[in-house]
Amino acid sequence: MEDKALHILNNTFGYSAFRQNQKDIIEQLINGNDAVVLMPTGGGKSLCYQIPAMAREGVGIIISPLIALMQDQVTALEQLGVKAAFLNSTLDAASAGEIEHRLLHGDLDLLYVAPERLMTDRFLNLLENTPIALFAIDEAHCVSQWGHDFRPEYIQLSILHERFPNIPRIALTATADEATRREIIQRLALENAELFVSGFDRPNICYRIAQNQGNAKDQLLRFILNEHENDAGIVYCLSRKKVEQTADWLCKKGLKALPYHAGLSAQIRQQHQHRFLTEDSVIIVATIAFGMGIDKPDVRFVAHLNLPKSIEAYYQETGRAGRDGLPSNAWMMYGLQDVIMLKQMMQTSEADDAHKRVEHHKLESMLGFTEITTCRRQALLKYFDDHLEQPCGNCDTCLIPVETWDATVVAQKALSCVYKTKQRFGVNYLIDVLLGKDMARIKQFGHDQISVYGIGKELDANQWRSIYRQLIARNLLSVDIEGHGNLRLTEQCRPVLRGDVSLQLRKENKQSKSANRGRKSFNSVKDADKALWEALRTCRKTLADQADVPPYVIFHDATLMEMLERQPQTHDQFSKMTGVGEKKLEAYANQFLEVIKQHIKSSTNPTSSSETIEETLLLLRSGMNANEIATHRNLKITTIFNHLAQCIEMGELELQQAVDLSEQEIKTIQNAFLSFSDEDRKLKPVYEAFEGAFDYGLLQCVRASVDIPM
Ligand code: ADP
Ligand code: ZN
Repeated sequence: MEDKALHILNNTFGYSAFRQNQKDIIEQLINGNDAVVLMPTGGGKSLCYQIPAMAREGVGIIISPLIALMQDQVTALEQLGVKAAFLNSTLDAASAGEIEHRLLHGDLDLLYVAPERLMTDRFLNLLENTPIALFAIDEAHCVSQWGHDFRPEYIQLSILHERFPNIPRIALTATADEATRREIIQRLALENAELFVSGFDRPNICYRIAQNQGNAKDQLLRFILNEHENDAGIVYCLSRKKVEQTADWLCKKGLKALPYHAGLSAQIRQQHQHRFLTEDSVIIVATIAFGMGIDKPDVRFVAHLNLPKSIEAYYQETGRAGRDGLPSNAWMMYGLQDVIMLKQMMQTSEADDAHKRVEHHKLESMLGFTEITTCRRQALLKYFDDHLEQPCGNCDTCLIPVETWDATVVAQKALSCVYKTKQRFGVNYLIDVLLGKDMARIKQFGHDQISVYGIGKELDANQWRSIYRQLIARNLLSVDIEGHGNLRLTEQCRPVLRGDVSLQLRKENKQSKSANRGRKSFNSVKDADKALWEALRTCRKTLADQADVPPYVIFHDATLMEMLERQPQTHDQFSKMTGVGEKKLEAYANQFLEVIKQHIKSSTNPTSSSETIEETLLLLRSGMNANEIATHRNLKITTIFNHLAQCIEMGELELQQAVDLSEQEIKTIQNAFLSFSDEDRKLKPVYEAFEGAFDYGLLQCVRASVDIPM
């Protein structure tokens, strides 16, 4: 049995070894037992049910709340030659009928269904008459009433256990906390299931959090241009308005940014999501409405322009980066305004007391997380009861250790200012008083007469803002409930005011260096390899367009990287690449091997043209035409034809491959060169002879194919 699983892993999926717990989980199911699986995003949960469903007799039923994801998964499985289908509300009656027919005739290995469809009597009866390999309950945390993804239909899923007691079940989630875990087990009647908990670390994600110093958008742009040019990414904002503004602004700066929020029509949302999945280097700017059910493996960065509401949300949202395991960035900007807003949200929440306590605790944890001065990853994992021995070396506080300073005296000034102005003002006013600003409003209240007026001139307004932010985050100050942003003293501030304890605060980097100095992400392919990398990507895009699937369904970036490194030259070598199974070997090996062959040929041939010509040639071979190459490389079309003509002249390229002309046209033009043109084979006379019907670029290529007289 175990061999069978490994065989499927190797031959169908093209992977050489199981990860973490995969093998044990698969074995558990193949042997007919239940499993509860907690594994981080990108950990490889899908294989845990896909392989046993294929290895066991009958069809595997996968219950998922994410309709968009079903389509993706099925498309990807079909590419691997697996018999998979989905049933949900997006199908018309005829298509649904056809799938039911396949189900009853044993023509499916895997069937994805939405929970409400599964629960219908009709469907349950259908299942009674079908051999079933297993039930997989994906996103199992949706049973939790505490969670933000609660789905009432999930509660009813315990019925599976009652009606099909002998069919193994597996529940999977990436949500980590203990309470959710208990709820899943209890509500789904999985008391006898074995629990598999994988570590929650996502080592390929670099966590970075920086202070917003009033120029968040600029910092975001710099981050993207420096580290993620041409990469796909997600930018999260809190409000629809900010989503629109940010997307607009990024577009104006020349990036392909698309907005996504609940205020847009379903059609537009669908369209933007589709472009994100199928095109290269699209950035989605979204409210949190975007992400659930986005399974794109090569999202290289997730940026937050606002604080998420909890560490769970932060972990889940940042977790959408780098599912493929390649280096990725989780980048966040936050400031005083965020802290104030979150504090107010906490107080004005309309939830009942129990919920409120939970929310409160979550927000506090999130605030604490942003302000810590030690390793982010250690803190993040600790929150999920996971453990990391050493600081990670791949987060902002590890990369640029935070300096702290004894801020007791300035904190006392900041707190006194709140007290002396009767706890009735917001941060900006308080700072004006501390700085001793000459303002009518201050005079009107008589605050130019109090002892704190002008005692804070040793710091500037931004530094004071940072101090107030940290005091609020640490609960030494609270924010008013009415929403005016007035600050009040809390019990906790007394020892500081009295000078009984000293207070260490973060020293802010002026330029917020940490925001802009992460690890260079993997898009920094070595220059020498760039041409091949681009050619491989173009080849993949062409194949993806032909098959009408997203590029990553053809091959992941990781597989392309491997091609770049190992440059396979035979089918046998190609079959050893990660992610190349039997089906994909057969379907795609030739195209990629050809691209690699051309690359090797032109880079080892001493008489070969320069690198830039080689790049043009590679792009042409991977399916682009001259115009597309010019756009892609941002070169003039004449330059591209120049390259092509040189290739033709050197015998590296057939004329027919370079230009879109019929045999007849080629003949005619060639003859024209031989008869009208002078010995130098000038282009102009021929151009004029055809009255401009053929561009100079085309003529240049044809000329290159005309034998030069000795
Ligand atoms: P999850 O559902 O846990 O977020 P997926 O099942 O989508 O994760 O897997 C994440 C990525 O890892 C996918 O691209 C998958 O193909 C890949 N993967 C899973 N298991 C393995 C393995 N054993 N070897 C190599 N790649 C794997
Ligand atoms: Zn760290």
